[in-house]
Amino acid sequence: MILIVGGAGYIGSEINKELNEAGFQTVVFDSLVSGHKEATKWGEFVQGDLNNLEDIRGVFKKYKIEAVFDFAAFIEVGESVKDPQKYYFNNLVNTLNLLKVMKEFEVNKIIFSSTAATFGEPKYTPIDEVHPQWPINPYGWTKLMIERVFADYDVAYGLRYVALRYFNACGANDEADIGEDHAQESHLIPLILDAAIGKRENIKIFGTDYPTPDGTCVRDYIHVVDLASAHLLALKHLMDGGESKQYNLGNGKGFSVREVIDAVKKVTEKEFTVLEVERRPGDPPILIASSEKIRKELGWSPKYTEIEEIVATAWKWHQKKDDK
Ligand code: UDP
Repeated sequence: MILIVGGAGYIGSEINKELNEAGFQTVVFDSLVSGHKEATKWGEFVQGDLNNLEDIRGVFKKYKIEAVFDFAAFIEVGESVKDPQKYYFNNLVNTLNLLKVMKEFEVNKIIFSSTAATFGEPKYTPIDEVHPQWPINPYGWTKLMIERVFADYDVAYGLRYVALRYFNACGANDEADIGEDHAQESHLIPLILDAAIGKRENIKIFGTDYPTPDGTCVRDYIHVVDLASAHLLALKHLMDGGESKQYNLGNGKGFSVREVIDAVKKVTEKEFTVLEVERRPGDPPILIASSEKIRKELGWSPKYTEIEEIVATAWKWHQKKDDK
């Protein structure tokens, strides 16, 4: 049985679906503070909170867990600056609780959602795994601290982990049955789609004077289905007795904010207002991943590399989500 902590969220629910399709048995453990029950159609489901050791022990008692995926975290960078305690308790302390129970039940394999935010300001691009890690917000620090904890638990207790550092996760699967649905949306693609569908009056471009080809920030948009295939390869790696690893996950191509907006206009055939406003504090001009390491070591390669293709899958889900 594979345990998926935070499996009712955007990325966790996609991995749960694909694990089931690949023949794995899964149990999702989620507090539903931000996840969606209807996104947990596959495998077993247990509602519980990582701040309660007994909740976690309950799952490990009930099921024979072989490996754990951990997607349970708060992810809002701005909020983490305003309320770091919320982030350090949920993302750091609660993950320590999970690791404590894993150790009690002698489960030593975990695949962890880490982030490009662990790198902070890029010193060079594309960002590979040896790039220095010095986050510029509490969110990034919580994730980096967990990576450090894993490394120490590996040496001391034989924990085997794969930390996957996502760049800009986006898109939805072909069936468009689950997808990105945050109560407070701050990410570029769903916000532009909201403008296209008429739920927002406009989309604001945060800064047009960056040292990039069109003056707007460049990001590496990685499709959730490609994230899922990386997670399945990481699981196989650990199941085969592989050692602990850290991998950066991006599609290797950058797209500017303007390019993403143009792609949405083309795909949706909708017109909407685009405003050019001040820079958002803390945005580096360019963030692109080098994913050479996971390509070489685990044979991963992304299917979705073109922005229009990516946006089309997100659009399909976005229209369905709003019909619900
Ligand atoms: N962005 C924007 N307008 C918005 C939201 C985001 O111009 O309403 C820009 C943001 O400044 C960044 C890029 O889009 O350069 C991606 O932002 P997002 O918050 O989606 O992801 P991040 O790269 O911050 O993780």
